[in-house]
Order: sequence, then structure tokens, then C-alpha cells
Amino acid sequence: MKEINKQIGVIERYTHILPVTDKTPIITLSEGSTPLIKADNIKKMLGVNFNIYLKYEGLNPTGSFKDRGMTVAVSKAAESGVKAVICASTGNTSASASAYAVRAGLKSIVIIPEGAIALGKLSQALIHGAKVVAVEGNFDRCLEIVREICENYDVELVNSINPNRIEGQKTAAYEITEALGDTPDYQFMPVGNAGNITAYWKGYKELNETKALNLPVMMGFQAAGSAPIVEKKFIKEPKTIATAIKIGNPASWEQAETARDESDGVIDRVTDEEILEAWQDLAETEGVFVEPASAASLAGLKKYLDNGDFNPAYSKNVVCILTGHGLKDPDRAVETVSRPPVVSDSVDKVVKCTGIK
Ligand SMILES: *Cc1c(COP(=O)(O)O)cnc(C)c1O
Repeated sequence: MKEINKQIGVIERYTHILPVTDKTPIITLSEGSTPLIKADNIKKMLGVNFNIYLKYEGLNPTGSFKDRGMTVAVSKAAESGVKAVICASTGNTSASASAYAVRAGLKSIVIIPEGAIALGKLSQALIHGAKVVAVEGNFDRCLEIVREICENYDVELVNSINPNRIEGQKTAAYEITEALGDTPDYQFMPVGNAGNITAYWKGYKELNETKALNLPVMMGFQAAGSAPIVEKKFIKEPKTIATAIKIGNPASWEQAETARDESDGVIDRVTDEEILEAWQDLAETEGVFVEPASAASLAGLKKYLDNGDFNPAYSKNVVCILTGHGLKDPDRAVETVSRPPVVSDSVDKVVKCTGIK
């Protein structure tokens, strides 16, 4: 890889496949170019032969994959001349929108479900100066409100129903393919509003059409308490500790089903318990700290290995998408893992607690 690829963002890296022109101002934080980490410890832990890779999207500038879409959405908003961007958010969209808006000199307005946002994400929107309004309702309701506002006021909606978000996010499929030298055989990922699975599928289909590469099998996972696509019905009160995928009425529902059906894949569910177990596996065996929602990908892989439905050959490449950084939700880690012991100021006592001896 050329050194310069690390410094430019996705618009400059992928200009030819994005809806930008010479007139589009490039609003970037040098997002993208995230690592594809070979997960040999997890491979060993699971006792499998195929290759497992982790696409660590938590290393984007604001800590989630949302930045890939936001650079395009905010650049296009700036080009169109609007003064403000608006989004409904479970957290990461607001963190990303408010950061990119600052660079573009635009106002950002963020509508969040009251009490349902991880602290790290809320702090990002606030420090970037977004107008944050918490609504007594869930995410789905926030998105309805934002859609209605956009019909009546001159503000640009930057949720993933904005097609520019999808265009930007599809670049992750290109990066994975460049890193592997081919498209992966299987891709496991979390599904919330389903914009991301839509974006990856668009990217892989383009690669299939332009470079004749094989299409991966798309394996999407919702949290069991908020699995509308699996249950084929809206979930009025979605429940899960994985707040980034706590969504009862996905905006890109149909596109997610298309990705599933065209790729011969699945959209299934994993329990909070399975999510937290996979989340700890990633931290404890690979040194990769993600927010809980991200671990739905590995939780899904483990579930399909356990129930015997998944038996790829040894040479196959399986990618798990890790959507957001663990520091987004530090409370969860401190609650889940036991707190450190407190001892008096003495070398002996400290040594005793460390297990060195
Ligand atoms: C937004 C988000 C998701 C869900 O992505 P969708 O496009 O809504 O399906 C999953 N994980 C994290 C960390 C996110 O920020």
C-alpha cells in the first residue's frame, strides 16, 4: 500500500466511484484505510481451519464506520449550500455528523432517544458543538421526527437514508477486497438500521460487475431483543445492551433483505449474552476493543459454528466487521468486568494483588 493512502480520506481515495465532482468541497478527517486484522487467536479458540479477519472500523476518526458515509454526505451538503445538517442517532451518527459539520462550517442538529445513548458518543456530539435534543421516545421515533423536520426546513438529513452515506460506506467493501486481493467468501456483520449491510452489498456488487469478482455471502445479525427483520415485524420497544443496533424499524429493511437473498446469506439474531461473550473474546484474545454492537458479527459466527450450519473449506476467507470502538461505551466494560482491587500504599500488598508471585 502506498504511504499516501494513510493520509487521504475515502473521497480522494475512491473519487471515481463516488458522487463527487470538481465542485464538491472535500470535507474529510482522513477516514477509512482501517486495518484488516488477521484473527489467528480466535481461529485457534474456535478450532476452525478457515481464515478469520477483523475489519476494525472503530479506528475511523470519530470511532465508527459512520465516518465513511459522513464525509460524502457532509461534503455534498456543503456543496448544496445548506446551513445545517440534522440526524436522528443512537450515538455514532451524531458523533460523526457533528465532527464533519464543524469542518464544513455547518451547524449540526442531533435528535437522540433520551437515556439510550452511550456516554462516549454523547460527549462527542456535545464537544463538537452540536445542538443535541433528547426526545422521550426511541430511535425509530427520533427518525420520524427528523424526516418531518427535513420536509419543512432547509436542513440536510445525514442519516443512512441519505444515499450519499451509502455511497461513502461502500468503500469499506473495496478496502477489504484490496487487502485480501479478492472479495471475502463470507462477511459477518451487525445490522441495525441496515444502511451498512446495504452499503457493503452495493460495493461488492460493483466489484462483481466491474472486476468479475465473486460475491460474498452476507451474514447479518440483529440483537435478539430488536430483531424486526428476523421476526418480520416492527418491534415497538426494542431492547438490547447493544445500543447502536437497538432499532425496531430499520430504514433500509428491504435493501437488507435484498443483500441477504441475492447473496444466499442470512439475517439472524444473537442474544445480548452471546454479544457480550464475543465482545470479551475480541478484547481478551485479539486485543481488539469494540463497542458491544460490533461484536454481533463474531457472535453470529460463533452461533453458526455451534449449530453446525457453517462449514467453510480451509482456504476460505471470513471477515467480521467491527463497526465501532470500545471506548464509546466504557461503562459497559467497567460494569461487566470486575473492578480493580484497592490496596494500601505498600509494595508487598501491590505485588500480592498482581499475581507476579
Ligand atoms: C450504526 C452502527 C451499527 C448499525 O449499522 P446500520 O447501518 O444501522 O445497520 C452497528 N454498530 C455500530 C457501532 C454503529 O455505529
